[in-house]
Amino acid sequence: MAMDPVPVPSTSTDATAAVVAEAGAWFEENWSPGLSLGEWWDRLGRSGWGFPAWPQAWFGRGLAGSAARAVIAERNRHGAFGPPSGISTFLAAPTILAYGTDDQKQRYLPGIATGRDVWCQLFSEPEAGSDMASLQAKAVRDGDEWVITGQKVWSSGAQFARYGILIARTDPDVPKHKGITYFLIDMDQPGVDVRPLREMTGEAAFNEVFFSEARVADADRLGSLGEGWRVAMTTLSNERDPNNPGLGGGGGSLLGKPDLSMTVAAYQSMQAAEIDAFSFAISGGAGELFNRLVDNFGVSEQPVFRQRRAAIHTDRVTQRWTGQRAKANARGGQPGPEVSTLKLGGSNVGRDLRNLGLQAMGPYGMLADADAPEGGLFHKYALFVPATSIAGGSDEVQRNIIGERALGMPKEPDLSRDLPFSELRVSRRPES
Ligand SMILES: Cc1cc2nc3c(=O)[nH]c(=O)nc-3n(C[C@H](O)[C@H](O)[C@H](O)COP(=O)(O)OP(=O)(O)OC[C@H]3O[C@@H](n4cnc5c(N)ncnc54)[C@H](O)[C@@H]3O)c2cc1C
Repeated sequence: MAMDPVPVPSTSTDATAAVVAEAGAWFEENWSPGLSLGEWWDRLGRSGWGFPAWPQAWFGRGLAGSAARAVIAERNRHGAFGPPSGISTFLAAPTILAYGTDDQKQRYLPGIATGRDVWCQLFSEPEAGSDMASLQAKAVRDGDEWVITGQKVWSSGAQFARYGILIARTDPDVPKHKGITYFLIDMDQPGVDVRPLREMTGEAAFNEVFFSEARVADADRLGSLGEGWRVAMTTLSNERDPNNPGLGGGGGSLLGKPDLSMTVAAYQSMQAAEIDAFSFAISGGAGELFNRLVDNFGVSEQPVFRQRRAAIHTDRVTQRWTGQRAKANARGGQPGPEVSTLKLGGSNVGRDLRNLGLQAMGPYGMLADADAPEGGLFHKYALFVPATSIAGGSDEVQRNIIGERALGMPKEPDLSRDLPFSELRVSRRPES
């Protein structure tokens, strides 16, 4: 039994067929693997076919979910390489589209849509992960600018990033959720110190980022003063959505800064040989690799194995349909709290796939790197899988969101919610 494809609803309306035909003609005329990566992403980004769900005025075609998916399927049919993908496309862009001024959209979206600029997310701090509203990095107004001081952590890809989406405390004298503001910060400046952290995969996906009086213009504030929590929720609901159109781009790596002068063909083969565990886990390539391992090790007919594999398949189908329901409940074009069911479902499927994949390999499951089947890629994925239960909000936090915000159950008690941040114990950490 094959794991793929997961059924996708029919998109056979006349309007969708016309859009798909138009997209197909464009790919026929424009796609070539001999183009440089920079030229291809520039063409694709400016055509609107790279991110068909984005608004027409901003590098998209304004298409609803099923029509956008049909365009992506058409792109795949032509074998065309996908648009850039990364924190820039799946977190920064949807938040800028939702809250940005026209000036901010004009300045930042071209670099994102065409893969020129890599972005990172600067939310988590050593003492503010699940309880992100307790963050301590502060932004102090200085004329037309803000001065940023503090520390962020787990900042994926920050070592390659030109810009960051940053939340910082602008008012310590109001309750913790209310004194936070959202900024778009230039990482390439004195006062920003990025220090990579190495994980058990052997790769350094994360970083600590220290801000010592770094500067950000008030024109780069995203949303109103003190509205950062609400803006950040838009970022996070996109992060929890595995069907996010910016995430499913299929081109580029989540980490790293692509060399835009390479041909697309050369870049694709380099990626296939050197993909990092983080990008691989998010690309959805693990299902395909799992199928190959099952075939190679000849375990598909073993009854217990078949049963467990069928259970994963059922979970994936359920997850896809739940996702569509979550989309149907989207508010103002942004995914609602129901999307947490997808995030949670993705972590469960990842764990099951890891366990069954290692079981399929038998004793070979104990090897690593070049000694292991498939060059050790599945093993790298297996080591990364626990991270999917933490990144973008832990499984426990997703359960809280589903309970409180999707099902309307009573909120978890939080005595600190209504007190000014400056009166909370967390805010009185000694200055270092
Ligand atoms: C792969 C990966 C990539 C990441 N990339 C980024 C990034 O680019 N930028 C960024 O800003 N952050 C990033 N993060 C950080 C991530 O958002 C945090 O790790 C996450 O929010 C959890 O915070 P924490 O690590 O501080 O754990 P804590 O909040 O300290 O949680 C510790 C444990 O307590 C549990 N817990 C906490 N609060 C509750 C509660 N209220 N109810 C029940 N259980 C609770 C948690 O579930 C967890 O098991 C990344 C993390 C990973 C793993």
